[in-house]
Amino acid sequence: MSQPRQPIESGVPDPFPEMHPVMVKNYGQWAWHDRPRPGVLRHVAKSGDTIHTVKAGTQRQMDVYTVRTLCDIADTYADGHVRFTARSNIEFMVADPAKVDPLIGALAEAGFPVGGTGNSVSMISHTQGWLHCDIPGTDASGVVKALMDELHQEFLHERMPNKVKITTSCCQINCGGQGDIAINVQHTKPPRINHELVSNMCERPAVVARCPVAAIRPALVNGKPTLEVDEKKCVCCGACYPPCPPMQINDPVHTKLAIWVGGKHSSTRSRPMFHKLVAAGLPNNPPRWPEAAEVVKTILYAYQADARPWERMGEWVERIGWPRFFEKTGLPFTKYHIDTWRGARASLNTSAQVRF
Ligand code: SF4
Ligand code: SF4
Repeated sequence: MSQPRQPIESGVPDPFPEMHPVMVKNYGQWAWHDRPRPGVLRHVAKSGDTIHTVKAGTQRQMDVYTVRTLCDIADTYADGHVRFTARSNIEFMVADPAKVDPLIGALAEAGFPVGGTGNSVSMISHTQGWLHCDIPGTDASGVVKALMDELHQEFLHERMPNKVKITTSCCQINCGGQGDIAINVQHTKPPRINHELVSNMCERPAVVARCPVAAIRPALVNGKPTLEVDEKKCVCCGACYPPCPPMQINDPVHTKLAIWVGGKHSSTRSRPMFHKLVAAGLPNNPPRWPEAAEVVKTILYAYQADARPWERMGEWVERIGWPRFFEKTGLPFTKYHIDTWRGARASLNTSAQVRF
């Protein structure tokens, strides 16, 4: 009798073989932790063992030489154990406190800033972008690099009212999460359809079903089955483009950036929050995205100046109110900030935590 096929486990690998021995020994038995300085965590176990974690920022998309440099630093100055965080920081673990300062020196020498802990601006998280995805409307990694170059002092110091989590997303609809400040792609025109290719490349019923406002219909053009878009209904979300690449929506001029504020995933102090649109139609302007960077810095420093200790960005805005937010940041409030799409109430009200 044939054996049943075993499932292929492609999830998170077993972390224990690569874990620092002090962490393996004291797994689940930690007594307390603190931050002796920005970028350094100290964890003390119930057994009395201590481990320091040194956090450094990276450019995320790294060539093999950079990875080797980081590994050499881990072998020479740390105990040979590293991990990457979800925000592309690298963390080195050392059991001997005397190794912390030389390790920080070696990282600084190689150009990797140490920080990103506590009430700082941690590395900006971003979606996969052109490396792994076929629909990006901008280079999310580039936006991150350009912005962190400008915010790097805020990574080094813990001088914000609370932690600041910034995110970027290179399309309007798919991966990416809530952020204190989010820089997201915004399409401003309906897709342009290449009718020659639709019947060969697209599963048309699936594309029709995907449109959130039912703007796509089957059509015949030059005798060929294709699709058409009711441009009055289309909200330029880009949801039709992934399953049907001939419905091209990315555009060098009409693909813009929008800034959203006040989101968070955590339920510490207050419930998780959705971020809200505060600036739209900013130029998608590589390689430094100066217009988006200016808006982000304006919001960040208004928050720093006005928020109470431990208020997250969204909590600050809720306390002072959105009208005061626009006054304090000087951003214009327009009719486009008002969400008039009633369908969101039914389709987004699905999380166990977010209810409205
Ligand atoms: S945000 Fe959109 S374009 Fe960017 S990686 Fe995710 S799915 Fe792809
Ligand atoms: S861009 Fe969005 S709203 Fe417009 S046709 Fe495509 S799926 Fe529909």
